[in-house]
Amino acid sequence: MIGFNKPYFSGKELQYIQEAIRLEKLSGNGEFTQRCQSFFEQRYGFKKTLLTQSCTAALEMAAILLDIKPGDEVIMPSYTFVSTANAFVLRGAKIVFADSNENEPNISVAHVAQLISAKTRAIVVVHYAGVACDMDAIMALAKKNNLFVVEDAAQAIDSFYRNKSLGSIGHVAAFSFHETKNIISGEGGMLVINDEQFVKRAEIIWEKGTNRSAFFRGEVDKYNWVDVGSSFLPSEITAAFLWAQLEQLDFIQQRRKQHWQQYWDGLKEMANAKFFQLPVIPEYATNNAHIFYLSTTSSVAQRVLLYCLKHAGVQAIFHYLPLHQSPFFTQGSAPAKLPNAERFAETLIRLPLFVELTHSDIAQACAAVKTCFDLKHAELQPAGNP
Ligand SMILES: *Cc1c(COP(=O)(O)O)cnc(C)c1O
Repeated sequence: MIGFNKPYFSGKELQYIQEAIRLEKLSGNGEFTQRCQSFFEQRYGFKKTLLTQSCTAALEMAAILLDIKPGDEVIMPSYTFVSTANAFVLRGAKIVFADSNENEPNISVAHVAQLISAKTRAIVVVHYAGVACDMDAIMALAKKNNLFVVEDAAQAIDSFYRNKSLGSIGHVAAFSFHETKNIISGEGGMLVINDEQFVKRAEIIWEKGTNRSAFFRGEVDKYNWVDVGSSFLPSEITAAFLWAQLEQLDFIQQRRKQHWQQYWDGLKEMANAKFFQLPVIPEYATNNAHIFYLSTTSSVAQRVLLYCLKHAGVQAIFHYLPLHQSPFFTQGSAPAKLPNAERFAETLIRLPLFVELTHSDIAQACAAVKTCFDLKHAELQPAGNP
């Protein structure tokens, strides 16, 4: 069986964790945290970064930082992970879900424009599969309406929009180092602050509402409770692990991109209206090879292909159930229609993608896709209970 994901280890993780132990500083914001943060700031031009325990935590920090209050409206795509929405719901915000684009799962800017009201405070974009949303259009819309922009860049490490790194464009951004992402630390994440006005307060929220970071820099002589906050920072054990990954970032990215390209080359001849579409990468976006997906022609085709691939020894999986249709959001009432988000939920399939895949694994996965379709379209019929 070719599994869907396998975490990559650079081999230096334990060595750096041992070093953290030797330094006898295991709580947060130590040597390894600083090293990781500097790396990201220098490499991607982020104004300020703070490692967090997850991308979820970074999004929660973003919602506090933007001072989102009960009744505020926050616009975001329905086709995303629950944390994008939960972080703002926890502040009492009303979530307004926008549809995806027709040809790719990212948020439709035209739809966002229609959803802006006097109560809208922020737009949250999600760079699905690490492929950029149309950030010039989003930033222009936000500026015109005096809104904040949060980038949920959970999947978007080392990816770019017109030469700007993703995560460097919105007022704030959140990354994930969850085991399933390109760069990992088990659980882990990072808040990026690009707007100077938020830098100081972000550090305070990060450190339980205290000015402890300023204290350790010698800027104040005692540290005190000065704002709301929580314990958002990860331990040095996590940061040490992450550092071992960052040293191999170029290798990881090079491998993933090779694999992604092999899928593309292997499947492009079948990418047509009868079988499936391949991912669309707009001209303004780069591909960081976080996900390789196909969009099938119907929910039945999705179901049958998943089943067929499983039998061929390839673990493929669908992705998000749209949040606008979720039990928590609808509370039993009929959901609005967001046709593109619903279609991606019903038709999208992700194929295995991880560093240690071999050329022959991917060849086998591509062959399995072909065989599944070659079994004749006749077989891609509702199959009782696949
Ligand atoms: C993975 C992911 C998250 C959550 O990341 P965690 O680090 O697990 O909290 C949030 N948003 C998106 C779009 C994701 O893909």
